[in-house]
Amino acid sequence: KRIITTENLEEDSKIEGQLRPQLLSEYIGQEKAKKTLSIYIEAAKARGEALDHVLFYGPPGLGKTTLAGIIANEMGVNMKITSGPAIEKPGEMAAILNGLQEHDVLFVDEIHRLNRQVEEVLYPAMEDYAIDIMIGKGPGARSVRLNLPKFTLVGATTRAGMLTAPLRDRFGVVHHLELYNEEELKTIILRSAHVLGVEIEEEGAMELARRSRGTPRLANRLLKRVRDFAQVKYDGVITKEVANYALDLLDVDKFGLDHIDRNILITMIEKFQGGPVGLETLAASISEDAGTLEDVYEPYLLKNGFIQRTPRGRVVTELAYQHLGIPGEV
Ligand code: ADP
Repeated sequence: KRIITTENLEEDSKIEGQLRPQLLSEYIGQEKAKKTLSIYIEAAKARGEALDHVLFYGPPGLGKTTLAGIIANEMGVNMKITSGPAIEKPGEMAAILNGLQEHDVLFVDEIHRLNRQVEEVLYPAMEDYAIDIMIGKGPGARSVRLNLPKFTLVGATTRAGMLTAPLRDRFGVVHHLELYNEEELKTIILRSAHVLGVEIEEEGAMELARRSRGTPRLANRLLKRVRDFAQVKYDGVITKEVANYALDLLDVDKFGLDHIDRNILITMIEKFQGGPVGLETLAASISEDAGTLEDVYEPYLLKNGFIQRTPRGRVVTELAYQHLGIPGEV
């Protein structure tokens, strides 16, 4: 596994519980989402109602689960956590819903991966707080409606486009979480360091922020790794120098790229004169499959302007040449 993956790694779970903000006021960035949520939460509380169903979408590690927990906390209710792939049968979903308390939050991660029958249980549940249960079989079968407690479904997905329309339409509040900027990441890192009791200088935090690929989960992971270096070699204080030294050793460069990212760029430059090169051809020449290249490696490179998509294939940009210190380009 790459250290810069934004997926949840085992090493993250040890600190994630500790580092998760519990209140909206502690949650850094995503100002638009925070503002609307705080209004909705206040209104729901004043009316004594459950909060409307909420959908968060955006890349992994940006704080969707964290926000769901904050909603439950601010509403003063419990949160039950599950995920799309974890629920296989409609009956399992019905049992979870039936076990909720009034106004509870049900968090469904990777909600786009629910299968069709399970998803259909959610329609009346979200709309009317009810589920329809079939009793008996064959011609004598009949459907009985069972009322549920009024609850809030919080769904999270990395791919909003993969949600079916009937499911998407049942969310009253939909938020796209954005990658964080360096200032926000720095603030998150300083806060996490404080919680973990790690001494860090502002410039050290900035260096970590710069290399965290816009993602709090990665910022926290890098902080934890760099802390170990600081402890062993530098009296425990994370200075800019320690951060630089450790991150270079960990193979996370100034823009948060690792050797795989750089290899993609170098291959495009050396074998394909900077492009255009087709996805399949490029994938084959770095021995990866095209799907992984497109879903895992490419988005960050595209987003940060190292490569561009053209109708004839991918091309390397001037920024990539500069970053790699390779002369050339037009
Ligand atoms: P997701 O559910 O989107 O994959 P998580 O909610 O699990 O992401 O967030 C990953 C980690 O990043 C959490 O443990 C939390 O500590 C941290 N985090 C995420 N967003 C924020 C934020 N806005 N402020 C502070 N920490 C955050």
